[in-house]
Amino acid sequence: MGSRGRPDRFAKVREHMLEWDLKGRGITDPDVLRVMEEVRREEFVPGQYRLQAYSDGPLPIGLAQTISQPYIVALMTEELRLNPDCEVLEIGTGSGYQTAILCKLVKKVYTIERFAELSESAQAVLNRLGINNVEFYVGDGSCGWPEQKTFDRILITAAVPRMPEPLVEQLIDGGLIIAPIGPAGVQELVVREKKKGKITGRLICDCRFVKLLGKYGFSE
Ligand code: SAM
Repeated sequence: MGSRGRPDRFAKVREHMLEWDLKGRGITDPDVLRVMEEVRREEFVPGQYRLQAYSDGPLPIGLAQTISQPYIVALMTEELRLNPDCEVLEIGTGSGYQTAILCKLVKKVYTIERFAELSESAQAVLNRLGINNVEFYVGDGSCGWPEQKTFDRILITAAVPRMPEPLVEQLIDGGLIIAPIGPAGVQELVVREKKKGKITGRLICDCRFVKLLGKYGFSE
């Protein structure tokens, strides 16, 4: 059964996503798998794509933007090595799907989106789902959170030509930042760690993201 006692018409395709697209590709963190099962992706996609909500790829959400592929959402979440005390900064709210996944695993999420329309519809969905450990901001996320604040983890969900310096500055010592870095088209998904002021990191995989437009992203 789904919410409010209605039959869950997505149960089978969700199960397929978990088994084949996530576990089948090496996602093993039980907390990540649990929240990927718990958060209903169909709530975050526009009506005309609802039946494709568990397809193995990104889907349009309007304004030439996309909700990310479920596998990429799970992979980035696993690579963030979250714990319940974490405060996370997310750049690129989009549909709010990744935001909701993060909210289920950490103390608080701060999320920035360039388009007010997307931010507002993401807020409406998270509200409806009763998720409230989150703050939304509309603006250029490449410049970081507008108030002086540091974060345990930072996730950039759009392609950047290089790591935005203001975001590295807002990362705590010992924190992790994940970003797709590279030109429009194909990028490298990287994780970087800040330790005693030094940045080390590694490549996770190649990926394709829409561009982050902004002062420390791509120019418009
Ligand atoms: N994680 C999202 C989801 O699950 O729906 C998908 C994010 S989508 C791939 C990238 C988002 O980054 C888009 O919504 C886009 O508008 C946003 N974006 C682009 N440039 C930005 C900027 N400078 N600041 C904040 N958001 C930006």
